[in-house]
Amino acid sequence: MTTQHIVKTVVALPGEGIGLEVVGATCDLLTGAGLPITIVTPPQGAAAVKSHGSPLPDETKRAARSADGVLFGAAGPASSAVVSWLRWEMSAWGGVRPITFYPGMRSPLADPEGIDYVIVRENSEGIYPGREGDLADLARVMPDLGDRSGRTVKEYGEGSFAVKVVTPVGAERIARLACRLARARQARGKPGKVTCVTKSNVLPRSDGLFRETAERVMAEAGGLQFEHFYVDDAARRLVRFPRTMDVVLCMNQYADILSDLGAETAGGLGLAPSGCFGDGWAYFESVHGSAPDIAGRGIANPTATIRSAAMMLDHMGLVAEAQRLETAVRRVYRDGKTLTPDQGGAATTDEMARAVLAAYRHA
Ligand code: ATP
Repeated sequence: MTTQHIVKTVVALPGEGIGLEVVGATCDLLTGAGLPITIVTPPQGAAAVKSHGSPLPDETKRAARSADGVLFGAAGPASSAVVSWLRWEMSAWGGVRPITFYPGMRSPLADPEGIDYVIVRENSEGIYPGREGDLADLARVMPDLGDRSGRTVKEYGEGSFAVKVVTPVGAERIARLACRLARARQARGKPGKVTCVTKSNVLPRSDGLFRETAERVMAEAGGLQFEHFYVDDAARRLVRFPRTMDVVLCMNQYADILSDLGAETAGGLGLAPSGCFGDGWAYFESVHGSAPDIAGRGIANPTATIRSAAMMLDHMGLVAEAQRLETAVRRVYRDGKTLTPDQGGAATTDEMARAVLAAYRHA
């Protein structure tokens, strides 16, 4: 039963491509579920460029900043400014990406039952957002910068470089977020383990700092298990031993790659939700992109966005409603009758979202 709540505001920003379809279907579902929320859709993306001369007008930023929940769809060329603002300008430094298999999901693994872990992504540092330049410029200011074999920047001649940044502050706050999640999961019967992923053998100063900081934070926190794997080994383990994972703490780019891999092991990109958290700021979005190959056909799987909305509801304090929505998704997969083509079904995006709504009503 839905408890009485003050009506809260959700800002929905579909982005583009399939973002338009999956956010539309999810908003219809949230509205149909009778939740104590009002959904507003301020101008954004390509339409806002036409009407306001900007993909993210000031009025949209204001609406998002003052909303109780923000749901984003999928980024593409016309909406990269939207996600740049949501993630980087608003400093949503912590990405939380659950990887969960429900029976009925089309995993390529022979035995996916029980896959249930969370990838924690450092969102603000590492090699993203890109800081790039000409090698010649770098050679001018740091002529003696050399790699481990002694080859200096100058010796490479013409070319480009990218800068990887790791700070103690950035590493510590994300490690603390991983700890908090591991503890919350431990309280629900999970092992209470953080697996840190870096390439500190090759990058001992940058990745090494991330790893050492995570180790220290974990030691100070106490009561949780800690392990570390190099990113290549971690990729293998996520495929071979996914059930051994609980909270997987990754530097920015490693998480970007491993969360797509993890999503596939659990059934596909269309299923993987995420939340991005900063200090007093959060927004929620699917892990997948705008999928131009299927955009506009009404066949995109809405699960990732629906589950992102469930994470958003939880964050907004609508905890029971969030759990009920997650249970409804699980039921639709268990029943297997109303799934989109990526899951072997013939349902449209809207039909699948309506099946989740029906399951929500009967939960
Ligand atoms: P980006 O670079 O923004 O991540 P991309 O095209 O590389 O975009 P996605 O848009 O995430 O990656 O799509 C990758 C593949 O997964 C595509 O073949 C796409 O059709 C499929 N896919 C992604 N999301 C969904 C979804 N919700 N339902 C069905 N298939 C999806």
